[in-house]
Amino acid sequence: MLSEDIKILNRLGKQFIPDITKPQVPGPFKGRPEISFHQIDEDALVSLCPTGAISKAPTSIDMGKCVMCGECSFAYPEKIKFTTDYKLATNVRERLIIAEGDNHPIVLDANNVRNEIHNLFGRSIKLREISAAGSNADEAELNACGNPNFDMGRFGIEFLASPRHCDGIVITGPISENMAEAVQVCYDAVPDPKILILAGTDAISGGIFAGSGALNRSFLEKYKVDLFVPGNPPHPLTFVNGVLELIKRKH
Ligand code: SF4
Repeated sequence: MLSEDIKILNRLGKQFIPDITKPQVPGPFKGRPEISFHQIDEDALVSLCPTGAISKAPTSIDMGKCVMCGECSFAYPEKIKFTTDYKLATNVRERLIIAEGDNHPIVLDANNVRNEIHNLFGRSIKLREISAAGSNADEAELNACGNPNFDMGRFGIEFLASPRHCDGIVITGPISENMAEAVQVCYDAVPDPKILILAGTDAISGGIFAGSGALNRSFLEKYKVDLFVPGNPPHPLTFVNGVLELIKRKH
Protein backbone atom coordinates (compact mmCIF):
# COMPACT_ATOMS: atom_id res chain seq x y z
CA MET A 1 0.00 0.00 0.00
CA LEU A 2 1.42 3.33 -1.09
CA SER A 3 -0.08 5.18 1.88
CA GLU A 4 1.65 2.75 4.27
CA ASP A 5 4.97 3.34 2.47
CA ILE A 6 4.55 7.10 2.81
CA LYS A 7 3.75 6.74 6.52
CA ILE A 8 6.92 4.69 7.01
CA LEU A 9 9.01 7.26 5.13
CA ASN A 10 7.55 10.06 7.24
CA ARG A 11 8.28 8.17 10.45
CA LEU A 12 11.86 7.31 9.51
CA GLY A 13 12.74 10.72 8.12
CA LYS A 14 16.15 11.25 6.53
CA GLN A 15 18.45 8.53 7.73
CA PHE A 16 21.63 9.61 5.97
CA ILE A 17 24.17 11.93 7.58
CA PRO A 18 23.83 15.14 5.53
CA ASP A 19 27.47 16.24 5.95
CA ILE A 20 29.66 13.18 6.37
CA THR A 21 32.65 15.32 7.39
CA LYS A 22 31.10 16.80 10.53
CA PRO A 23 29.08 14.37 12.68
CA GLN A 24 30.04 13.91 16.32
CA VAL A 25 30.50 10.38 17.63
CA PRO A 26 29.69 9.27 21.19
CA GLY A 27 32.31 9.47 23.95
CA PRO A 28 33.16 5.73 24.21
CA PHE A 29 34.63 5.87 20.71
CA LYS A 30 38.44 6.06 20.75
CA GLY A 31 39.86 8.25 18.04
CA ARG A 32 43.07 10.27 17.75
CA PRO A 33 44.94 10.24 21.07
CA GLU A 34 46.36 13.30 22.76
CA ILE A 35 49.46 12.77 24.90
CA SER A 36 50.41 15.36 27.51
CA PHE A 37 53.87 16.20 28.84
CA HIS A 38 52.87 14.89 32.28
CA GLN A 39 55.79 12.97 33.83
CA ILE A 40 55.17 9.24 34.35
CA ASP A 41 57.10 5.97 34.45
CA GLU A 42 57.48 5.51 30.68
CA ASP A 43 58.83 1.97 30.95
CA ALA A 44 55.69 0.91 32.82
CA LEU A 45 53.52 2.57 30.18
CA VAL A 46 55.37 0.92 27.31
CA SER A 47 55.19 -2.51 28.94
CA LEU A 48 51.40 -2.51 29.34
CA CYS A 49 50.67 -2.10 25.62
CA PRO A 50 49.83 -5.49 24.08
CA THR A 51 51.00 -4.57 20.57
CA GLY A 52 54.11 -2.47 21.19
CA ALA A 53 52.31 0.63 19.90
CA ILE A 54 53.81 2.87 22.60
CA SER A 55 57.35 4.23 22.44
CA LYS A 56 59.18 6.45 24.90
CA ALA A 57 61.36 9.59 24.78
CA PRO A 58 59.18 11.15 23.56
CA THR A 59 56.09 9.19 24.53
CA SER A 60 54.26 8.29 21.35
CA ILE A 61 51.50 6.00 20.10
CA ASP A 62 51.59 4.35 16.69
CA MET A 63 47.97 4.30 15.52
CA GLY A 64 48.94 1.72 12.94
CA LYS A 65 49.68 -0.70 15.81
CA CYS A 66 47.15 0.43 18.44
CA VAL A 67 44.23 -1.96 18.95
CA MET A 68 42.29 0.61 21.00
CA CYS A 69 42.19 -1.54 24.12
CA GLY A 70 42.34 1.60 26.25
CA GLU A 71 44.75 0.16 28.85
CA CYS A 72 47.18 3.07 28.55
CA SER A 73 44.53 5.74 29.11
CA PHE A 74 42.97 3.76 31.98
CA ALA A 75 46.33 3.48 33.74
CA TYR A 76 47.60 6.99 32.93
CA PRO A 77 44.55 9.23 32.31
CA GLU A 78 46.58 12.35 32.98
CA LYS A 79 49.05 11.33 30.27
CA ILE A 80 46.93 9.80 27.50
CA LYS A 81 43.46 10.79 26.41
CA PHE A 82 41.63 9.39 23.39
CA THR A 83 39.59 12.05 21.61
CA THR A 84 36.59 11.33 19.39
CA ASP A 85 38.41 12.64 16.30
CA TYR A 86 37.71 9.90 13.76
CA LYS A 87 39.68 11.46 10.89
CA LEU A 88 42.65 9.16 11.26
CA ALA A 89 43.34 8.06 7.68
CA THR A 90 46.50 9.17 5.88
CA ASN A 91 48.75 8.16 3.03
CA VAL A 92 51.96 8.61 5.04
CA ARG A 93 52.64 5.79 7.47
CA GLU A 94 54.73 7.99 9.79
CA ARG A 95 51.78 10.35 10.34
CA LEU A 96 50.05 7.61 12.31
CA ILE A 97 52.64 8.04 15.06
CA ILE A 98 51.29 10.56 17.58
CA ALA A 99 53.87 12.00 19.98
CA GLU A 100 53.31 13.96 23.18
CA GLY A 101 52.19 17.49 22.35
CA ASP A 102 50.94 16.52 18.86
CA ASN A 103 47.43 17.87 19.18
CA HIS A 104 46.77 18.46 15.51
CA PRO A 105 44.59 16.45 13.08
CA ILE A 106 45.98 13.57 11.02
CA VAL A 107 45.85 14.53 7.34
CA LEU A 108 46.89 13.19 3.96
CA ASP A 109 49.95 14.50 2.15
CA ALA A 110 48.51 15.85 -1.12
CA ASN A 111 51.94 15.64 -2.76
CA ASN A 112 52.00 11.91 -2.06
CA VAL A 113 48.77 11.22 -4.00
CA ARG A 114 49.24 10.00 -7.57
CA ASN A 115 47.76 12.35 -10.20
CA GLU A 116 45.67 9.61 -11.79
CA ILE A 117 43.78 9.09 -8.54
CA HIS A 118 42.31 12.58 -8.71
CA ASN A 119 41.87 12.51 -12.47
CA LEU A 120 40.21 9.11 -12.76
CA PHE A 121 38.50 8.39 -9.46
CA GLY A 122 37.32 11.82 -8.30
CA ARG A 123 33.67 11.08 -9.01
CA SER A 124 33.52 7.29 -8.80
CA ILE A 125 35.63 4.61 -7.21
CA LYS A 126 34.82 0.92 -7.02
CA LEU A 127 36.69 -1.25 -4.56
CA ARG A 128 37.10 -4.95 -3.86
CA GLU A 129 37.42 -5.81 -0.18
CA ILE A 130 39.67 -8.74 0.75
CA SER A 131 39.38 -10.21 4.21
CA ALA A 132 42.88 -11.60 4.64
CA ALA A 133 42.33 -13.50 7.89
CA GLY A 134 40.22 -10.71 9.32
CA SER A 135 38.11 -11.13 12.45
CA ASN A 136 34.96 -9.87 10.70
CA ALA A 137 34.97 -6.74 12.85
CA ASP A 138 36.78 -4.63 10.22
CA GLU A 139 34.64 -6.16 7.50
CA ALA A 140 31.40 -5.42 9.37
CA GLU A 141 32.34 -1.75 9.72
CA LEU A 142 33.25 -1.51 6.03
CA ASN A 143 29.87 -3.02 5.19
CA ALA A 144 28.28 -0.31 7.33
CA CYS A 145 29.87 2.36 5.12
CA GLY A 146 27.24 1.58 2.48
CA ASN A 147 24.22 1.54 4.78
CA PRO A 148 21.56 4.31 4.68
CA ASN A 149 23.31 6.13 7.53
CA PHE A 150 26.82 6.59 6.13
CA ASP A 151 25.71 6.00 2.51
CA MET A 152 29.09 6.23 0.81
CA GLY A 153 27.38 5.24 -2.46
CA ARG A 154 26.16 8.83 -2.83
CA PHE A 155 29.82 9.80 -3.42
CA GLY A 156 30.33 7.05 -5.99
CA ILE A 157 32.25 4.86 -3.53
CA GLU A 158 31.15 1.23 -3.66
CA PHE A 159 32.37 -2.27 -2.94
CA LEU A 160 31.96 -4.65 -5.87
CA ALA A 161 32.35 -8.41 -6.12
CA SER A 162 34.64 -8.71 -9.12
CA PRO A 163 38.13 -7.16 -8.91
CA ARG A 164 38.04 -6.86 -12.71
CA HIS A 165 35.31 -4.23 -12.33
CA CYS A 166 37.15 -2.37 -9.57
CA ASP A 167 39.64 0.48 -9.25
CA GLY A 168 41.46 -0.91 -6.26
CA ILE A 169 41.48 -3.25 -3.30
CA VAL A 170 40.91 -2.79 0.42
CA ILE A 171 42.70 -5.30 2.62
CA THR A 172 41.46 -6.13 6.10
CA GLY A 173 43.09 -8.63 8.43
CA PRO A 174 46.78 -9.33 9.06
CA ILE A 175 47.28 -11.42 5.82
CA SER A 176 47.78 -15.02 6.79
CA GLU A 177 49.99 -17.37 4.81
CA ASN A 178 46.99 -19.07 3.25
CA MET A 179 45.52 -15.72 2.12
CA ALA A 180 48.77 -14.30 0.68
CA GLU A 181 48.30 -15.80 -2.78
CA ALA A 182 44.62 -14.81 -2.86
CA VAL A 183 45.55 -11.20 -2.10
CA GLN A 184 48.08 -11.21 -4.93
CA VAL A 185 45.67 -12.82 -7.42
CA CYS A 186 42.94 -10.32 -6.52
CA TYR A 187 45.31 -7.35 -6.82
CA ASP A 188 46.60 -8.57 -10.20
CA ALA A 189 43.01 -8.86 -11.47
CA VAL A 190 42.32 -5.15 -10.94
CA PRO A 191 43.09 -3.07 -14.05
CA ASP A 192 45.77 -0.35 -13.85
CA PRO A 193 46.01 2.20 -12.41
CA LYS A 194 44.83 0.71 -9.14
CA ILE A 195 44.53 1.77 -5.55
CA LEU A 196 45.70 -0.10 -2.47
CA ILE A 197 44.05 0.61 0.87
CA LEU A 198 44.80 -1.02 4.23
CA ALA A 199 41.83 -0.84 6.61
CA GLY A 200 42.28 -1.61 10.28
CA THR A 201 45.21 -2.15 12.59
CA ASP A 202 45.60 -5.80 11.61
CA ALA A 203 46.10 -4.91 7.96
CA ILE A 204 48.44 -1.98 8.68
CA SER A 205 50.79 -3.70 11.11
CA GLY A 206 49.53 -7.20 11.88
CA GLY A 207 48.01 -5.95 15.16
CA ILE A 208 48.15 -8.55 17.92
CA PHE A 209 49.26 -11.10 15.31
CA ALA A 210 52.36 -9.14 14.25
CA GLY A 211 55.40 -11.38 14.05
CA SER A 212 53.37 -14.59 13.89
CA GLY A 213 54.75 -17.30 11.65
CA ALA A 214 51.21 -17.84 10.38
CA LEU A 215 51.35 -14.51 8.52
CA ASN A 216 52.83 -13.72 5.13
CA ARG A 217 52.89 -9.95 4.61
CA SER A 218 55.43 -9.94 1.76
CA PHE A 219 52.75 -8.52 -0.58
CA LEU A 220 52.98 -5.20 1.24
CA GLU A 221 56.71 -4.92 0.52
CA LYS A 222 56.02 -4.79 -3.22
CA TYR A 223 53.47 -2.00 -3.58
CA LYS A 224 52.88 1.55 -2.44
CA VAL A 225 49.96 1.84 -0.04
CA ASP A 226 47.65 4.70 -1.06
CA LEU A 227 45.71 4.95 2.19
CA PHE A 228 46.12 3.69 5.74
CA VAL A 229 42.83 3.60 7.66
CA PRO A 230 43.52 2.94 11.37
CA GLY A 231 41.08 1.53 13.88
CA ASN A 232 40.36 -1.79 15.45
CA PRO A 233 37.94 -1.92 13.73
CA PRO A 234 38.01 1.34 11.74
CA HIS A 235 34.92 3.52 12.15
CA PRO A 236 32.88 3.98 8.93
CA LEU A 237 33.45 7.73 9.26
CA THR A 238 37.20 7.11 9.31
CA PHE A 239 37.02 5.06 6.13
CA VAL A 240 34.60 7.26 4.18
CA ASN A 241 36.38 10.52 5.07
CA GLY A 242 39.75 8.97 4.26
CA VAL A 243 38.65 7.82 0.80
CA LEU A 244 37.00 11.18 0.10
CA GLU A 245 40.25 12.95 0.96
CA LEU A 246 42.23 10.54 -1.20
CA ILE A 247 40.10 11.03 -4.32
CA LYS A 248 39.45 14.71 -3.53
CA ARG A 249 35.74 14.26 -4.03
CA LYS A 250 33.84 17.48 -3.41
CA HIS A 251 31.36 16.48 -0.70
S1 SF4 B 1 45.00 1.73 23.63
FE1 SF4 B 1 46.52 1.33 22.02
S2 SF4 B 1 48.40 2.32 22.71
FE2 SF4 B 1 47.05 2.10 24.51
S3 SF4 B 1 47.67 0.16 25.46
FE3 SF4 B 1 45.95 -0.31 24.05
S4 SF4 B 1 46.93 -0.87 22.12
FE4 SF4 B 1 48.50 0.15 23.35
